[in-house]
Amino acid sequence: MADDREVSPVLHPEETEETAIRPDSLATFIGQPEVRETLGIAIEAAKRRGEPIDHILFSGPPGLGKTTLAHIIAREMGAAIRTTTGPVLEKPGDLAALLTALNEGDVLFIDEVHRISPVVEEVLYSAMEDFFIDVMIGEGPSARSIPLTLERFTLIGATTKIGNLGAPFRDRFGIVSRLNLYDEPELVRIVERSSGIMRIPVTPEGAVEIARRSRGTPRIVNRLLRRVRDYALVRGDGTITRECADHALSMLGIDELGLDDLDRRILTAVVRDFNGGPVGARTIAIAVGEEVRTIEEVYEPYLIRIGFLKRTPQGREATPAAAEHLASYYADRCQS
Ligand code: ADP
Repeated sequence: MADDREVSPVLHPEETEETAIRPDSLATFIGQPEVRETLGIAIEAAKRRGEPIDHILFSGPPGLGKTTLAHIIAREMGAAIRTTTGPVLEKPGDLAALLTALNEGDVLFIDEVHRISPVVEEVLYSAMEDFFIDVMIGEGPSARSIPLTLERFTLIGATTKIGNLGAPFRDRFGIVSRLNLYDEPELVRIVERSSGIMRIPVTPEGAVEIARRSRGTPRIVNRLLRRVRDYALVRGDGTITRECADHALSMLGIDELGLDDLDRRILTAVVRDFNGGPVGARTIAIAVGEEVRTIEEVYEPYLIRIGFLKRTPQGREATPAAAEHLASYYADRCQS
């Protein structure tokens, strides 16, 4: 499964996000300066007005901090947070149960909000706009609808696929923020912060090496930090140096750009099997035996960001840089 990869931005099933290293305030949240500024102003203004903060939608690839920000907002507003995910909300009743339990100012966080069913989305419209829902009780001729007034709450939605959200739904969010992949200096700061909290000695070069291979994603930075820590303990003196990070990550098949075996298979498919493209995401997915959604939402953003893939109306195209990277990666392996 692709999500088991060391460089998957999706939470591993056995992995609990360590709350100790999760930033708990806007001040300790690294990177995303525009998003932080927008939120800082919105929080301050809402507090001054004595009102709940507007509904907020975060979009962007997994592992960039959408859930973390939702928790930070609730904390800074002094509000409670309830969390759920889109696919869990199948029936309007599921949503109604959550909404009616909210108190004034509470935050309802819905992850993967693009995956809620259309009937639930409909109920959410009136809840977001008028803090009011109509719940249908019973079925057939005896069915009746009961109007329920809700407390003023804040909905925070997170999505990896904003294009799948209808315009009427998107427009009901007062703040829409896109999180971007992090740059290397930001990732280095995250390594330094997390290693400080976890008391792992890391040299500055060691931190850079981990950051460079983390695909612009904080979740991956923290995961690779733990992997390299284990390696440094068993094979070294416990300190993460550049060499130590390099050995540990190469052993895991993660190359100097943070690409792993599946990334290379995707690129190889486009470059070799489809002559550089254009080729559709569905065809790529079949070629590498992965779900098309995973290819589009998890792998492509980084491959596009580093200039290895291009999205064109005809499909995906690999760039010459991708072909060069593959050639040098496999040439190095043949020599060693
Ligand atoms: P998402 O909801 O976008 O999938 P999360 O909010 O769950 O991502 O973030 C994944 C992990 O990455 C968190 O546990 C947190 O420790 C770390 N993280 C995310 N953003 C930052 C950041 N800006 N600074 C430091 N750590 C971060």
